[in-house]
Amino acid sequence: MQLFKPLETVKGEDKSGVSTTEKVKCLIIGSGPAGYTAAIYASRANLKPVLYTGLQQGGQLVTTTEVENFPGYPDGVTGPEMMEDLRKQAERFGTEVRLGIATASDFSGRPLKVTFDNTIEILADTVIIATGATAKYLGIPAEKTYAGMGVSACATCDGFFYRGKDVAVVGGGDTACEEASYLAGLCRKVYMIVRRDVLRASKAMQHRVMHAPNIEILWQCQVEDLFGTNGVEGAVIIRHKDAPGEEKFKIKIDGLFLAVGHTPNSEVFRQWIETDETGYIITEPGSTRTRVPGVFAAGDVADNVYRQAVTAAGSGCKAAIDAERYLAEAI
Ligand code: NAP
Repeated sequence: MQLFKPLETVKGEDKSGVSTTEKVKCLIIGSGPAGYTAAIYASRANLKPVLYTGLQQGGQLVTTTEVENFPGYPDGVTGPEMMEDLRKQAERFGTEVRLGIATASDFSGRPLKVTFDNTIEILADTVIIATGATAKYLGIPAEKTYAGMGVSACATCDGFFYRGKDVAVVGGGDTACEEASYLAGLCRKVYMIVRRDVLRASKAMQHRVMHAPNIEILWQCQVEDLFGTNGVEGAVIIRHKDAPGEEKFKIKIDGLFLAVGHTPNSEVFRQWIETDETGYIITEPGSTRTRVPGVFAAGDVADNVYRQAVTAAGSGCKAAIDAERYLAEAI
């Protein structure tokens, strides 16, 4: 029986590939600070959670070097180390951590259903969505042409390959400034390509990039194209695009790093769960409850404002408590 109607028509969901079905009390999807913190709390509340990691185990923080603003680490910690600690802590209390990507969901009735890797169907009393957000690209064809050949969305993953070379970072937010600062320590020269005449980043980050001797900010500029024979050798930049004084010029670079924001990973659930115009999951104010009873959202997938590791962890804790109370009352 269908208890809950989708927000839009389910597009011919193909369930022919499902080979395993399993029932759990609490399903957690995502392995960032939100997912692991939800897992710590849910396992300690005896919900016996099963956590699916998603593609990037540990979430966005595994692509960060030093995390200096997470409380409890007076000397800082690397992102991968912190995520490893969180995973171990969740497992210590009994969370079952599995590799797998959510490929379909069906929240029309009870139990809730989520399919992983098109083959494993999990039936769950509660679902905590903590799938995070993914880096955005510019949408120019050259990004695809040079993917893995000079275009990257993660300086800490790929910066090492550009030691002593010239690179550019696109964007003017905290991520762009962080990536530019990191690359400035490895590369000969770092251009920051900023489309407006101001940076969106915090004052501290702005100060850092503006005072780095090998960072040059190209204001009111955008990347139009990339060129190179066996990888990126340069970029065509357009300044004052579609405005008086528009001009094009080339810069010689070996790598282009994109830092232009993120897209929330909510697509698999959007037919059931309310999202805002950019895809962030909408939860009831002051809670992690979504419009579907028993489904909760935590971390960056439901946060277009703060998007910090500590706020994600905090909301993961709230989601586990919300799930535990829901089970106590509803089941
Ligand atoms: P963001 O704040 O949304 O900034 C995105 C930047 O990319 C903006 O400068 C934007 O320009 C630019 N941009 C977007 N689309 C573009 C396009 N097509 N072409 C050229 N430029 C484009 O994203 P973020 O830097 O990833 O930060 C996300 C959140 O995480 C923020 O709240 C940030 O404070 C936080 N964060 C914090 C830290 C930290 O505390 N250590 C580190 C990283 C991120 P406009 O300004 O013109 O829109």
